[in-house]
Amino acid sequence: MLDVSTAEKKDILSLELPQLKQVLEANGEKGFRAKQIFEWLHKRRVMSFDDMTNISLELRKKLSERFYIENIHAVRRLKSDIDDTEKFLFELSDGNHVETVLMSYEHGDSLCVSTQVGCKMGCKFCASTIAGFKRSLKASEILLQLYEAERVSGRKVSSIVLMGIGEPLDNYDNVLSFLNILSSESGTNMSLRHVSLSTCGIVDRIKDLSKLGLGLTLSISLHATNDKKRSELMPINQRYNISELMSACHDYFDATGRRISFEYALIDGENDSEADAKALAELTGGMPSHINIIPVNKIKERSYTSSRAAAVRFSKRLNDLGVNATVRRTLGADIDAACGQLRREYEI
Ligand code: SAH
Repeated sequence: MLDVSTAEKKDILSLELPQLKQVLEANGEKGFRAKQIFEWLHKRRVMSFDDMTNISLELRKKLSERFYIENIHAVRRLKSDIDDTEKFLFELSDGNHVETVLMSYEHGDSLCVSTQVGCKMGCKFCASTIAGFKRSLKASEILLQLYEAERVSGRKVSSIVLMGIGEPLDNYDNVLSFLNILSSESGTNMSLRHVSLSTCGIVDRIKDLSKLGLGLTLSISLHATNDKKRSELMPINQRYNISELMSACHDYFDATGRRISFEYALIDGENDSEADAKALAELTGGMPSHINIIPVNKIKERSYTSSRAAAVRFSKRLNDLGVNATVRRTLGADIDAACGQLRREYEI
């Protein structure tokens, strides 16, 4: 190839507006060009410098010599016959794959994006871990899941959950750039009040996030009520135990005023006892929160099971104890919409 290799060029889609301005100015360009270019990339979402028609030919040429525009493309698109759920398997430019799920709710369409190729966290019930960890996604690759899902489906996404493959707080810097670009007035301009970040509980990063005071909803994957069981199901608990995690949640609420959301995958005989219900009520009692009960999704490598009826019973029991709990609606059941499974089948 005659062109300068992509490796030497900068990924322009991952640059936040102030960073883009800085790079341009350092190269002798006018700062206001940054906003124009940023809008072409993130509002108009062009895929080539040639399309930036209010930028001089000379600057477009310079841009294409120093930068490249990242791209991803859907290699599979599954549409549910029971609801409006669509699932995409995206191929990244290095040949890796991630999954993205578009769901329809009363309040609008919501997109579940991946933040890493695979995951290091090792949760026992999770398909993303079994398929292995390859690398973290760049900000551009998280943004492109939104841009491509909207372009291909023709639908407009009104909220985003960082709940796909990967642990967002294990890719902290890139996820923050993603959030900054997503919420930029010169970009998609999505309020972070419409974004939820789901984490297995990397307490130090939750503390960092609290300090930023973003409007983001924090969603904690709790899944067990005592350290013995949680450490068994989720290795991260050996590093940060439940009491440290809950204390970080309290601080997050105090700093942001945002209600904490807890995920609880119910597993028969593992975390569904009366003692678990009581412990959950106690753990979450002191702060405004909501618990999502999810009957564990079967994955073929594990024998964990549950049922919707069991989840409803457990949730009712929590309600009796004064806890704000509901059973998560199942969407896209016919297309295996839960994340992690498609990538694994595709890559193995
Ligand atoms: N790493 C982040 C986000 C990705 S996982 C986290 O841990 O929160 C998204 C959610 O799906 C998490 O709550 C995770 O615990 C849950 N999950 C993973 N595998 C599951 C399964 N088999 N059944 C039900 N929930 C599962």
